[in-house]
Amino acid sequence: MILYDLARRAKHILKEYQKSRDCEYITPVRRIERVFPLTDRRVCAMTFDDGPTDTETNPKISDDGLTLHLLKTLEKFGAKGTFDVIGTTEHNYPDEAGVHGSFSWGGVRYDHYPDINRDLCAGAKNKSDLISRILSGGHEITNHGYRHILFGHLKLVYGARACFNNIHEVISDIMELDSLLLEEHGYKMRLSRPPHYVDKIPDGKTSYDAYRYAGYNYLAASFDGGGWLPSTGDFKKDIDAMVEPISRALSEDPDSLNGQIIFQKDGYSMSRHTPVAEALPLQLDLLKKHGYDVISVSELLSLSQFADCVNEDAQALANAGFTVAYKNNTLHPERAMTFGELVVTCTPPQDILTSYRKFVDSGFETGALLAECAKRYGVGENHPYFIAFCKAAELGIINCDNSEKLSYKTTVTGELLSAFLRSLAPTYSFTINPGKLSRRDVFPHLRAVLVK
Ligand SMILES: [Zn+2]
Repeated sequence: MILYDLARRAKHILKEYQKSRDCEYITPVRRIERVFPLTDRRVCAMTFDDGPTDTETNPKISDDGLTLHLLKTLEKFGAKGTFDVIGTTEHNYPDEAGVHGSFSWGGVRYDHYPDINRDLCAGAKNKSDLISRILSGGHEITNHGYRHILFGHLKLVYGARACFNNIHEVISDIMELDSLLLEEHGYKMRLSRPPHYVDKIPDGKTSYDAYRYAGYNYLAASFDGGGWLPSTGDFKKDIDAMVEPISRALSEDPDSLNGQIIFQKDGYSMSRHTPVAEALPLQLDLLKKHGYDVISVSELLSLSQFADCVNEDAQALANAGFTVAYKNNTLHPERAMTFGELVVTCTPPQDILTSYRKFVDSGFETGALLAECAKRYGVGENHPYFIAFCKAAELGIINCDNSEKLSYKTTVTGELLSAFLRSLAPTYSFTINPGKLSRRDVFPHLRAVLVK
């Protein structure tokens, strides 16, 4: 018992440490799990994983395939869905069917969606018409990986499952689906969710590194809509299990789902049933009765970008692609602004992205001088701000002599910001109070200078 308590306490400390690390450095890839609730509206989003598919609903309740059935249901309620689609699982062979009701029911070595040996019924490659239909209905599409292969090992749950070996394979899979949507539908996806949320790639990199390369944010969810677990043996109960948690949450607190992202499945449950087809109208009806609009994740973000507050200046910067928030999508406007954060936000995001891609593709060839310059600010080669600082040095955003002896940790003062803005935007006229500045104090100036 003592050992158990110790292990539990250690796990708790580790989790808290991880959490604090998730809001230590601002980063271009944010984990979008839920957003800060609006005060004047109730909104939430729903993501539908693993489609599109034209396989029949089970039990069969209409002549439409599952994805089309879900689309028509959403549209009946004036709701917009976010479809987290795959490319195709048809190349994931050789393989065999797993045990019915187990995690590997759709394939032992790989996932086969919608079902093993029925790969051609699904995916953006084979079901181009369904992709067009999702887009013409005004819904959103996000990237769930071309072949739905795990980014890394998940031994406890999927012992025999194949996974990618390195970040290059992960990036190539993500970009294959990215290109397909762009070339065939003129549609650029902005969000991605790894298959089964596996983040650790065997070469030590993570899904966040791969998403940084692709220019994506990480799409998570904060509320499980259900519909993926094995059947209880009573289909009516399976539907109830999807409706009841939403019903309970709303009756306890009608605002509780405001700003949340609800996870749903555009595919079969582990028992090859589709409770989602019958539960979705009941869930949408409940939400509507409580005054909710169900909107796409990107629309949700356009209303409220961060997890901990609404800040219009930072939101405008984020919408224009600038890096302003932490990995867990918090903004912490009350914190002191650091010089490192100021530099990362002010360095053009496209330039940082291009340098990062070079870094992954062929090793970083920025030159020793720029690396030396970054080091003078305490930013070494393994620092999260390294590439941004090298780029900032190259663009003349920071001085390589660093005569003021600044560090990336230095708190920005009114005097420091004034000098920084004068060199960055000589025609910008401003008044800034002297002394230490919070992040909230700095955002309006950065917005005025950076967002055209
Ligand atoms: Zn999936």
